Amino acid sequence: LYNMLQDLKGNIKVYCRIRPSFNAGVRSVIDFIGSDGSLMIVDPLKPSRKSFQFNKIFGPTATQEEVYKDTQTLIRSVMDGYNVCIFAYGQTGSGKTHTMCGPLNGEIKDMGINYMAMSDLFEISSVRKNTVRYEVRVQMVEIYNEQVRDLLPDDSSSNNNRLEIRSCLGNGGICLPDGSMHLVESTMDVLNLMELGEKNRSVSSTAINDRSSRSHSVLIVHVQGQEISGSTLRSCLHLVDLAGSERVDKSEVTGDRLKEAQHINKSLSCLGDVISALGQKSSHIPYRNSKLTQLLQDSLGGKAKVLMLAHVSPEADFYGETISTLKFAQRVSSV
Ligand code: ADP
Ligand code: MG
Repeated sequence: LYNMLQDLKGNIKVYCRIRPSFNAGVRSVIDFIGSDGSLMIVDPLKPSRKSFQFNKIFGPTATQEEVYKDTQTLIRSVMDGYNVCIFAYGQTGSGKTHTMCGPLNGEIKDMGINYMAMSDLFEISSVRKNTVRYEVRVQMVEIYNEQVRDLLPDDSSSNNNRLEIRSCLGNGGICLPDGSMHLVESTMDVLNLMELGEKNRSVSSTAINDRSSRSHSVLIVHVQGQEISGSTLRSCLHLVDLAGSERVDKSEVTGDRLKEAQHINKSLSCLGDVISALGQKSSHIPYRNSKLTQLLQDSLGGKAKVLMLAHVSPEADFYGETISTLKFAQRVSSV
């Protein structure tokens, strides 16, 4: 019933999360947070306010558990056979990795959506074990400069981990034929893989100082459920930590940095185009315009459920980027 009600309401939701301020002395641009999803931002330089409306706003004091609580129903949907895409959008430093992964300091504390989602999947699988036999497999990839790379390759000595995106035979969905697939049976299995993937990500950074903010990282979770009745459920969950959305000043960057920035801008605007086309029930959805939207195609379109987590920083210094993030989020939002 829950899924049926959701279908009537539309499948795209947008939440906004505001991280705590790093500097108590600096003025905040957050003027008002409504429990109905309204948000008022104040311009630090002139007496002007802008208001936005989303499905939900999480203020600086919101905990990881609170954010996850409003995400949990989507995870249930995955176990019922729906494809789901959850992605974190925002400028570098706004809290995307914190929301998706958590502090990544080796401790199981303040864990992010990725961990809690996997934990729930295993929990549901165990509760239903007498009626459905689930198998969960994960892949982890990054998209950097319009190239997809396997972050969990079977052969880690190979330095060519580039992957092609293909439509798979049979169900017409999207797959990565050469991507490695890892069967997971516990949250520990997943944590170990996530750590390994994160390590492989930084190994590849050559001259680039902060690769993690310049590439999109995607945890792909494939769920297969064999029902006692004989039918098979198949679904996938994409958990995406996007590259930083900040605009770089074209007069200041050149060469590799400029190329990176152009790829990031292009893929983020394609993502925006695809989601707003889906929201408007447009007949043509421009998935093919970027690797990111091609990869996410199955969990964006059709009956898939999409959750965008727009992240903003509260400090006045970031006002411009905050407004640009909120405008992007407002555009893809159907509220
Ligand atoms: P991004 O991935 O968007 O670049 P991070 O998630 O790395 O940003 O966040 C930047 C810094 O802020 C990190 O040190 C992170 O731990 C901290 N941070 C972000 N969001 C929160 C939050 N909600 N509560 C506490 N610390 C946070
Ligand atoms: Mg990050």
